[in-house]
Amino acid sequence: MHAPGFSLEVFPPRRNGPVRTIYDTLDGLEGLSPDFISVTYGHGSQADRSATARIASTIAHEYHIPVVAHLTSLYADEASVDETLTAFDEAGVNAILALRGDPVESHTPTGVFPHASDLAAYIHRRRPDMTLVGACYPEGHTDSPSLEEDVSNLAIKVSAGVSQLITQLFYDNEDFYRFMDVCAAHGITVPICAGIMPIISEKSVRSMASRGGSHIPPKVEALLDRWGDAPDCLRNAGIVYASEQIADLIANGVAGIHLYTMNRPSTTRRIWRNVSGLFASD
Ligand code: FAD
Repeated sequence: MHAPGFSLEVFPPRRNGPVRTIYDTLDGLEGLSPDFISVTYGHGSQADRSATARIASTIAHEYHIPVVAHLTSLYADEASVDETLTAFDEAGVNAILALRGDPVESHTPTGVFPHASDLAAYIHRRRPDMTLVGACYPEGHTDSPSLEEDVSNLAIKVSAGVSQLITQLFYDNEDFYRFMDVCAAHGITVPICAGIMPIISEKSVRSMASRGGSHIPPKVEALLDRWGDAPDCLRNAGIVYASEQIADLIANGVAGIHLYTMNRPSTTRRIWRNVSGLFASD
């Protein structure tokens, strides 16, 4: 069996936030040797959109790790995407996670790339050399009336040139396995990496689950009930939980694990310590 892939996600420091924090994150991840690190793209009026290219450049040129730059489409047009592609080229990026992004209140989308697949198709035409990655949702995207419909839209994204998918966070591996079956039924055969978000705090679990439409299974509710007010214990339990999720996914042949680091390298390292021995091929 092939060795599963292993990748990490970081986000740029907030606008006017200390730049040093990203170095702390990247230094803290040193030695993990991921296949790539992906860098999120800010949304909302406060976002510093040039930050993705800057951080990507740091990862590629100073840390010598392959990088995937996220890019959202709702508020983009062809000229702004061309400009970003040039910035990504200079940063040493050769893979893009093409996303729609979420609507921001009181901002009108340009209407040029209403779906991530429109952005992927445009980049694929302009830059066939770029590797394109896409997002996917084991429990269905919140805008879609059903998982079936969401996955049939996902197939459009794959036809547009996306050659790898990364999932939204999920806490119940059964949701992922069900999703894999639906993808197979829709002829989606590209590698699908499981996005794993460690439990950091009760507040973050509840807000991310409600924003992303992920359900909180009874096993996670039990952890939140027991240690919701004891952050260190909850973090320890979250590390165990994420490690078990990863072991089960690898045992069941997952193509790759994408760890959402939340820029908390110590948590990522502890999970890595638990699971690193599972990434070898048989
Ligand atoms: P799409 O693929 O466009 O899907 C959105 C909705 O439209 C779905 O319901 C889908 O079924 C439907 N749809 C898609 N194509 C069609 C079509 N052709 N016709 C009709 N309906 C269609 N957000 C950020 O702002 N910055 C980030 O860096 C970022 N990184 C992310 C990384 C990952 C791994 C994930 C899972 C999400 C990330 N997001 C990020 C959040 C993401 O932007 C939101 O979840 C957003 O709501 C959907 O983006 P998408 O690219 O999946 O959209």
